[in-house]
Amino acid sequence: MINFNIPYLSESELVNINETVRKLHFQGNGEFSKKAENYLSNLTGTTKIFLNASGTQALEMSALLMGIQKDDEIIMPSYTFSSTANAFIMRGARIKFIDIHPEDMNMDENQIENAITTKTKAIVPVHYGGVSCNMGKLMRVAHEFDLKVIEDSAQCINSYYKDKHLGTIGDVGIFSFHETKNIQCGEGGATLINNKAYYDKSEILIEKGTNRTRFVNGEIDHYTWVGIGSSFLVNEITAAFLYSQLKDIDKVTKKRIDLWNYYYNAFSNIQELELAKIPDYAKPNGHIFYIKTKDNKTREKLRLYLKKKGVDARTHFIPLHSSPYGLGHTQFIGEDKYTTAESNKLLRLPMHYFLEYSDIDYIKKVIIDFYKNHA
Ligand SMILES: *Cc1c(COP(=O)(O)O)cnc(C)c1O
Repeated sequence: MINFNIPYLSESELVNINETVRKLHFQGNGEFSKKAENYLSNLTGTTKIFLNASGTQALEMSALLMGIQKDDEIIMPSYTFSSTANAFIMRGARIKFIDIHPEDMNMDENQIENAITTKTKAIVPVHYGGVSCNMGKLMRVAHEFDLKVIEDSAQCINSYYKDKHLGTIGDVGIFSFHETKNIQCGEGGATLINNKAYYDKSEILIEKGTNRTRFVNGEIDHYTWVGIGSSFLVNEITAAFLYSQLKDIDKVTKKRIDLWNYYYNAFSNIQELELAKIPDYAKPNGHIFYIKTKDNKTREKLRLYLKKKGVDARTHFIPLHSSPYGLGHTQFIGEDKYTTAESNKLLRLPMHYFLEYSDIDYIKKVIIDFYKNHA
């Protein structure tokens, strides 16, 4: 069986965890948490970064940080994971979905203005598969209408818009280190605070509404409850695990990009398939490799054929506006020209650090055979 994903492992997870256990420091904000945060700071150029227990939590923290309230409107693509919308729905906000570009499945920045009302507070671009949205145009619209930008860069460790790391362009950005992401610690995430206006509030939010950060920094003698907040910290054992992985980021990214290019070259002359088009401004991290078939029926036939031949290929997001909860609780603005149609045709192929080039040769053989004899 060619697995869809095998989580990355470095060689030092257990070494770091051993050290943590010996030191008897298990709560958040320990040495490995700091090391991982500093590592991410150096990689991205954003100085204020918090590790969280998940990308979902990072999104929830971002919504609180932006002060999102009941009836505020948030613009995002429908082609995303439930957490992107949930974080804002939990605060009572209304979700306004807009369509995507068929070439890269990212939100169509030209549709944003159409969805803006006097109640709009924020735009939430999702960089699908680590491929950057058109952040130049998007940020111009955000400034013009005085809107906050929260980048759902969950899949984007080591991905860039021009020379800027994704997640560093909006007011805040988030990462996920879920087992399925390029760098992982089972469940984990991070929040990047790019707008200095949120520095103080972020320190209070993450420490359960207390000013403990100032206490830890030696600025005050006792800490106390000063605002709302939650337990958004990751525990030190998880941080120790994560740090061992972060140090391999260049190696992991390079391998995934090489595999992605190998797939792309191998598949570009299979006429029945459509492949992604990566915009010039995007420098992605090889998080996802997907193909598109001519329709939903063919996709399902191909998926099952691959499975029979030992290849685990997967569909992806069911557009949120047409999902059971989304139907009653969200709104799609403008025409759904591509979101539903394109997601119905999309099939993700195995992609992980341990994939072999010969696996890709085999997958290609199976797909060619499918179109010849079974489509
Ligand atoms: C993975 C992912 C999330 C959620 O991250 P978790 O760490 O699993 O909570 C959110 N948004 C997108 C686009 C994702 O891919």
